[in-house]
Amino acid sequence: MSDKYTQFVSRGFGRDLAGRLGLPRPVELRRYMAGSPLVPGPVLVIGRQDEGQGKEPEALAAELLSWGLDVRRNALPKEKLGAIVLLLDEVRRPEDLEVPVLTAARSLRDLAAGGRVVTVSRTAESSADPAEAAARQGIDGIVRSVAKELRDGATANGILLGSDAVPRSPGTLGALRFFLSGRSAFVDGQFLTVSTASGRQPGDPDKPLAGKVAVVTGAARGIGAAIARTLHRDGAAIVAVDVPAAGDHLAEVANEVKGTALQLDITVPDAGDRIIHHALERHGSLDILVHNAGITRDKLLANMDDGRWRSVIAVNIASQLRINDAILGSPDLPVAPRIVSVASTSGIAGNRGQSNYAASKGGVIGMVRASAPLLAAQGGTINAVAPGFIETEMTARIPLLTREVARRLNSLQQGGDPGDVAEAIAFLASDAAGGISGEVLRVCGQNLVGA
Ligand code: NAD
Repeated sequence: MSDKYTQFVSRGFGRDLAGRLGLPRPVELRRYMAGSPLVPGPVLVIGRQDEGQGKEPEALAAELLSWGLDVRRNALPKEKLGAIVLLLDEVRRPEDLEVPVLTAARSLRDLAAGGRVVTVSRTAESSADPAEAAARQGIDGIVRSVAKELRDGATANGILLGSDAVPRSPGTLGALRFFLSGRSAFVDGQFLTVSTASGRQPGDPDKPLAGKVAVVTGAARGIGAAIARTLHRDGAAIVAVDVPAAGDHLAEVANEVKGTALQLDITVPDAGDRIIHHALERHGSLDILVHNAGITRDKLLANMDDGRWRSVIAVNIASQLRINDAILGSPDLPVAPRIVSVASTSGIAGNRGQSNYAASKGGVIGMVRASAPLLAAQGGTINAVAPGFIETEMTARIPLLTREVARRLNSLQQGGDPGDVAEAIAFLASDAAGGISGEVLRVCGQNLVGA
């Protein structure tokens, strides 16, 4: 689902006209479809070219070959590429960046529409050496700049390895597969940190959630309904949760995904126990929990009343903290689930009229970071996705001109689909993301949020 302007300028006359007038030319993004190729062409794997540094790039190239990809260690003249994978985990000084980065640069013009640039490097924080930290942090600037330079729906993202992870850790390979695929269509200019070597690659990459039970709150419509559909498509059994007032829509979504519906206001004190009870009683397990339910009650802070403030905090963050406590304290859940919470770019950069909402969504980010060690102690993970401008009933209500400006202010020059948020959540909920916890992944097309 792309907006009408994007459809108009994606081809033929509309494309030429927009070009001549210097207007934005968003293209329809390459999105995941089961059975379709992972990338739209061969993958070029670039590592440091120095003597003795060839092992990791070779091993990664062999891994990508085992995924059925066409892999190159050297670019062929004029050949269109599906992706460029840049292995920079060995850089020690800023000067080390030059050869691999400029080697990649020479192939950028050959990147196919919807192509990918993915870097693999180490976190700057894990080095005490200023030169090494400088080289590593420099990669942040490179990826974010390249993401702004690429066109035709191509994206650039990075994987950061913590001290316990290596390029071939399951979490690294899981993040690499996600960034290469159409599942990451609206993720651009972002980094994911893989902190540990845990995790597992899926047996069937098209059914990575087979055998899992997933609870999705706010599932009656919008992004929540898309999450329920995507997790179901990926093999999970779904518990769809929403308020009783949304009961009819909730039942429709639950039926569509062959799951069960739980009518529940998540702000009630025993919401966590009721979710656990329903999942275990009806499905025998609770492996994934998606905190998606959320509300907005916008007002300038100068005009804010207690009702607006209190309801947003209650639904968007206080309920999640209480449900997580119930899960961590439950004797019926020997292994903690993978939890994914929906934050917002408003919680990162702030937004006029949304101090209450930004407090709650910034709160989600704080909660996720602090909860990661607690979940890890019980075998679980917790991460957040922060959507930018997503085409939903909520954003359809924004006045036309403001909406048009808001949806173009990102590197992909369009709003995302609810499905784009759902894809990121499905990845973070999968065993392939086992080494990833306490992370916030923006799904915003590299929104120019001004953070
Ligand atoms: P939406 O309003 O279409 O859907 C939210 C759902 O949550 C509704 O079905 C609603 O009934 C349910 N809900 C609200 N309060 C509840 C409660 N107390 N208990 C149970 N369910 C409750 O919103 P959406 O656009 O689909 O947004 C989903 C999430 O994504 C929210 O957390 C929102 O803040 C976040 N988000 C949306 C956007 C966007 O552009 N649409 C951007 C950033 C973040």
